[in-house]
Amino acid sequence: MANLSPMMKQYFDIKKQYPDTILFFRLGDFYEMFYDDAKLASRELDLTLTGRDCGQEERAPMCGVPFHSYETYLAKLVAKGYKVAICEQMEDPALAKGLVKRDIIRVVTPGTVLESSMLDESRNNYICSVCVRGNTAGVCFADISTGELHATVLQDDLSEQLKNELSRFAPSEILVNSAVLDFQQLPAFIRNRLSASLELLGDEEYEESKTAAEVLEQFGKPSLEDLNLADKPALTAALGALFAYLHRTQRTGIERIAAIELYSGAQYMKLDLNARRNLELLETMRSKEKRGSLLWVLDKTRTPMGKRLIRSWMEQPLLSPAAISRRLNAVEELTTDAVLRDAIGQELSGIHDLERVMSRVVYGSANGRELRALESTARCLPPLRTALSGVHSQLLGSIIERIDPLEDLADLIDRAIVEEPPFSLREGGIIKAGFSEELDLLKGDMSSGRGILAEIETKEREKTGIPKLKVGYNRVFGYYIEVSNSYKNQVPPAYIRKQTLTNCERFITPELKDLEGRILGAHDKSVQLEHSLFEQVRKQVAGQMERVQRTAVAVAQLDVLLSFANVSVDNQYTRPIVDMSGKLELRESRHPVVEALLDAPFVPNDVTLDKVENRVAIITGPNMAGKSTYMRQVALITIMAQIGCFVPAAYAHIGITDAIFTRVGASDDLAAGQSTFMVEMAEVADILKNATSDSLVILDEIGRGTSTYDGMSIARAVVEFVANQKTLGAKTLFATHYHELTVLEDLLDGVKNYNIACKKHGDDITFLRRIVRGGADESYGIEVAKLAGVPNKVVKRAKQILAELSQTVPAVSAGKAKQSSVEEVPLQMALTPPGEAEALECLRQMDVNTLTPIECMNELFRLSKMV
Ligand code: ADP
Repeated sequence: MANLSPMMKQYFDIKKQYPDTILFFRLGDFYEMFYDDAKLASRELDLTLTGRDCGQEERAPMCGVPFHSYETYLAKLVAKGYKVAICEQMEDPALAKGLVKRDIIRVVTPGTVLESSMLDESRNNYICSVCVRGNTAGVCFADISTGELHATVLQDDLSEQLKNELSRFAPSEILVNSAVLDFQQLPAFIRNRLSASLELLGDEEYEESKTAAEVLEQFGKPSLEDLNLADKPALTAALGALFAYLHRTQRTGIERIAAIELYSGAQYMKLDLNARRNLELLETMRSKEKRGSLLWVLDKTRTPMGKRLIRSWMEQPLLSPAAISRRLNAVEELTTDAVLRDAIGQELSGIHDLERVMSRVVYGSANGRELRALESTARCLPPLRTALSGVHSQLLGSIIERIDPLEDLADLIDRAIVEEPPFSLREGGIIKAGFSEELDLLKGDMSSGRGILAEIETKEREKTGIPKLKVGYNRVFGYYIEVSNSYKNQVPPAYIRKQTLTNCERFITPELKDLEGRILGAHDKSVQLEHSLFEQVRKQVAGQMERVQRTAVAVAQLDVLLSFANVSVDNQYTRPIVDMSGKLELRESRHPVVEALLDAPFVPNDVTLDKVENRVAIITGPNMAGKSTYMRQVALITIMAQIGCFVPAAYAHIGITDAIFTRVGASDDLAAGQSTFMVEMAEVADILKNATSDSLVILDEIGRGTSTYDGMSIARAVVEFVANQKTLGAKTLFATHYHELTVLEDLLDGVKNYNIACKKHGDDITFLRRIVRGGADESYGIEVAKLAGVPNKVVKRAKQILAELSQTVPAVSAGKAKQSSVEEVPLQMALTPPGEAEALECLRQMDVNTLTPIECMNELFRLSKMV
């Protein structure tokens, strides 16, 4: 260490304070990395590893990224979960005496990104903090790029509840105390399913008095009572640890976070990660794309704030009929007035990302263009208020009240900043003429200086008789007089030679040097002055944070309501009746997404569920008939109604649903090494434990992952449990291949059979897509296989096999006989030609009821090869 160069010593001093980060060390026009950081970055970013003399024998491994394009590199490292500490030169190297002062200005982590190029404008980027104390957890989610802070306290069954809250906000970084790690599955869940980075903080970070002090300082309040936190020690600890972490990483203030939004789970419909994914609310399950999701249908928002809010509304369907009606009233008012919708839409289209621009203004990183964006946004606000002036609904009324026209801000920016400011703040050209007298004088000096230069050129040409004599400028020599070689001997002795080029020579004169000093001095001063004037304007704007934030929130709400209204008009949705009736009654309802994706017309269907006669609907019908579409449609319509949107139905009466649970298809936990059947059963267990009589439960083909009789028995026991009001009594849609279960209609209260009608002509099948009362009489598996293109020969043979099977196993094939038990029937096959014995054996092993059409097809192919 003793031999290290002073700069490397400085490097190590700084690095020591941030050992778990990659240090971006500013050296001139580059951010350099050294030693292990350099090796790691060169690997991760594909940079050439070089070396730098550091005073020791061996050169220090080094690699660097240009400072003007550092964001791309930073983004890659942060996306891979690294933390990057940015170390700046704190003084102008040209003016520094000795070693340039350097310091960390920020540590960028996945949850504290502010760079617009690294953020998705349509999503929030949350950093979460969790503190578990006994059976209580304090949880908060902050987005420092928008200033939001949501917080809640969870009690009991923490592991499950934490998973639900975390999947709802999908934070990119999660800070936890050590007690959180007692929930053994949670770290894997955070890393694998949420792809978030997990940060374990020391227990001292959660110390009571320290965290309370952090929280009070952040909000400038004298006591925790003022923040409604006095009785929430775990939450105060989570918040305090979060603020301390943000101060450590951001270094500057985090004043953007000005208020806590305390919420309770009781305000929102419970949707666990499975339900969110299965119902494809925000993205499709397979390709993770927005197209094909409910969001894709409903999101016609025009502003980034609206795009973020619509996601958050969809993640949090409401439970209060009054709050839902407030939204529905606003949507209804907008649907009835096309002129109003157009007028609002037009103004919204001109609105930029007020929240994130404002964050950069507050953190001091916004440039001239961003202030201009703020100005042009503010210009849309007065006409927006005018457009809304005649509205009646309470929510729209409150939105106008909260939209501040911000005319003073717009005027200030307009007076101060040129229309098209440069990207950089360091080159001048930002401040408008007329804004500052001092600046105008300096600029006057510069331009008069330039005028004098032109005069010098003319004067010297006359004096020397050199016609092509030119006055020019370059960065190295400053102003010079250029004379081409053919006039070299006419150059007066007073000219001082500075540079010889092939065709010409360049000179300076004392007069020119003097003028240069004046022009360049004025230029430097004016650039500096512009910078400080810009900073003053930015500060003034920052001072109006609250007004801008309030406006941004109101604009976001208006944007989402308008989107709901436009979608409702375009797709002919109707206003649902939402109350506490416990009913779920839909006439002519459609699946909002399938309808939008389908070329053919969608066949509408009715739904009748309630808490009495119609608690459980057992739905049978062949594969491809439309069972899952129907069940998802009911869930999606319920969610749409509870977020305050109209719904795709001719009539909808929706009793508030407190939670939706789904058990559908294969889950992606398979990658984590669990068998399909284990995952399926774990999900069923979870549903049976957590559902209430106000929940909606969707079960698609449960019990498929095991033998027929096991599966059927489990399926039946589950139906009995959900149907029975003493055990659960939840509204349930249950799709099954087990026709045997249709007997339950006669055995259990509240169970009704439905099937999706199909027409059979010979071997062919037509799906009618109509849901009708009663169980399906056949499974039509072979017809579906034919429809899927399985060769005729195979289809014929399958029918033959089926006929044989039906004869030998009468009880399994038709579900019409009233069976109250599902005893195992020994399978016994008739004698078959010898060549087909192998095929028969395979058939014996095969569980036709658990096969999908494709699997069926594959199996049939395999069988056809054997015979
Ligand atoms: P199942 O769950 O019974 O196997 P799906 O619900 O997956 O069947 O439906 C299969 C396909 O049928 C869907 O992808 C959709 O294109 C179409 N479909 C389903 N319901 C309807 C409907 N009501 N109207 C029109 N097409 C439908």
